[in-house]
This record gives sequence, C-alpha cells and structure tokens, in this order.
Amino acid sequence: PGPTSPQPTLFERIIAREIPSQVVYEDDDYIAIKDIAPKAPIHLLVIPKRVTTRVDEITDPLEMGRLWLKATEIAREQAPDYRLVVNCGAGGGQMVFHTHIHILAGWEGGPDSD
Ligand code: 5GP
Repeated sequence: PGPTSPQPTLFERIIAREIPSQVVYEDDDYIAIKDIAPKAPIHLLVIPKRVTTRVDEITDPLEMGRLWLKATEIAREQAPDYRLVVNCGAGGGQMVFHTHIHILAGWEGGPDSD
C-alpha cells in the first residue's frame, strides 16, 4: 500500500516499480512513462507523485503550474510540436484515477492526418 491511499493506484505501483514501465523522466515530484497502448507515435504520461484522483482536485495554482510546466518541458524534449490531453472523470474518458497528462506527438502530418 502506498503512503497516501490504502489501495495504491496503478501509477503508484508503477512509481514503486511493482509494475514495470518504460520511464522516460523522473524526479522527486513527477514521473513520465510511455503509454502501454500508444495512440500516437509518441505517447507519454506525465504523472505527479502526489496522488490526486483527477486534475481538478489540484487547487493550488503553483502545484498546477508546476505540473503544466513539467509536461511542456518533457514534451519539448520529445518533439517540437505536440498535443497535451487531460481526461477528467469517467465521462471524460479517464480510466486511471491518478491525475496525469498525456503527451501525444510524432505524427508525420499532424495529429489528424491519418
Ligand atoms: P486515461 O484514460 O485515464 O486518461 O489514461 C490512462 C492511460 O494509461 C491510457 O492511455 C492507458 O493506455 C494507460 N495505461 C493503462 N495501464 C497502463 C500500464 O499498466 N502501463 C502503462 N505504461 N500505461 C498504462
């Protein structure tokens, strides 16, 4: 069990290396991994280690700003142009209830070219 929730989220288990993943970035506060089912040539997930279930649970502007800046920093290392996606709630397509930002990039002719 993780320190913040009795039932660790999938991403907590990935952070703890209980579940393997391809880690592309990590520091004390964030991890970025390759999505297991990529929906673009480059598909990463930027995950804050502090557990919230969905992005709108983050109410501190500094925390939100730092997450956004981390996502754009990692995205820019992958590709000059990219798409960031946040699914918020089951009705918004969220499947893993541990806040994360998708980085999608690497298309030849843009995201809607195929
Ligand atoms: P959501 O729909 O919650 O915004 O996105 C969850 C993402 O996590 C999906 O794109 C899904 O492919 C990815 N995912 C689900 N399980 C795993 C896993 O075990 N490992 C990795 N690397 N990604 C996963």
